[in-house]
Amino acid sequence: MTNLRKPAVRLFAAVAAVSLVAACAEDGDTASGGGADYPDQNITFVVPFSAGGPTDTVTRLIAEPMSEELGAQIVVQNVEGAGGTVGSGEVAGADPDGYTVLMHHIGMSTAPALYADLGFDPMADFEMIGLVTEVPMTIVARADFEPETLEDLIDHVSENADSVTLANAGIGAASHLCGLLFQDALGVSLQEVPYEGTGPALTDLVGGQVDFMCDQTTNTSGQISAGEVKAYAVTTPERVESLPELPTTAEAGLPELEVAVWHGLYVPAGTPDEVVQQLSDALVVALADQGVIDQLADLGTAPVPAEDATPEAHRAKLEEQIETWGEIIADAGVEQS
Ligand code: ASP
Repeated sequence: MTNLRKPAVRLFAAVAAVSLVAACAEDGDTASGGGADYPDQNITFVVPFSAGGPTDTVTRLIAEPMSEELGAQIVVQNVEGAGGTVGSGEVAGADPDGYTVLMHHIGMSTAPALYADLGFDPMADFEMIGLVTEVPMTIVARADFEPETLEDLIDHVSENADSVTLANAGIGAASHLCGLLFQDALGVSLQEVPYEGTGPALTDLVGGQVDFMCDQTTNTSGQISAGEVKAYAVTTPERVESLPELPTTAEAGLPELEVAVWHGLYVPAGTPDEVVQQLSDALVVALADQGVIDQLADLGTAPVPAEDATPEAHRAKLEEQIETWGEIIADAGVEQS
């Protein structure tokens, strides 16, 4: 078994869906440059994956209390494609006025190593608002997939590498990264089936169209509890409280695979400081909301501490993660797309 050998790393186009999250402010079309009047129109939160998936779920959860705090409507827009890079690129090029906000995850830190021509620079083209949550991944399979345990899965995949299918949300997605780590650990190369988000991937997994995948507990918890998918392990060092039966990858025999998917909010570079601060303050309030805390707990995770929901903590995390993942991906010999 090849070993990625790196220390544990904590982890995160078409307009597919648009929805109004909350209505708290007067409607207005007038573009504003941000500042004293901010916000005086709807704010768009771009999710770079499909509606109904884990990134979308976390975004909608925090959008409501943020909307209340900011006194403005928040519209969630799914701009999918290329593992989250299409939506990210769109926000990087948007007006820096605080009305276009991106929710992304660990993929923001892996994309530079995975794409030869990303089209945007994660560190230079965004202002960071703050970290949001860090979500464990689960390794799940269609309910009738033969292997019963992670150990069985490793054997089965090793013996049937030419026929097993692995779903993901495109190159740069967290599911893609977790799949890379899995394949690298086993020294196999599987047939990958890309989706525009793991929402639709999970639907196909439940329907038996693909064999297995990794995905955040924020997407898989319901199907695991309902027995609609087979779950092998959780990818964090600790078990997840809401899924207590599920062993960790280390317990189940694959300590090389440890990933937690961190999420953060971004606005385009050049957004005024006071607007960034207002968004960050609203994020802190949203993450302290008991409803948000309870719902995240049901989905196997928790908000980050308030001190991490800040531009400074987010920038430091992204910088560190770009370096860490850049090395891991290069060492794994992954070719850039
Ligand atoms: N969980 C997905 C991923 O693999 C993204 C999503 O659909 O939210 O990154």
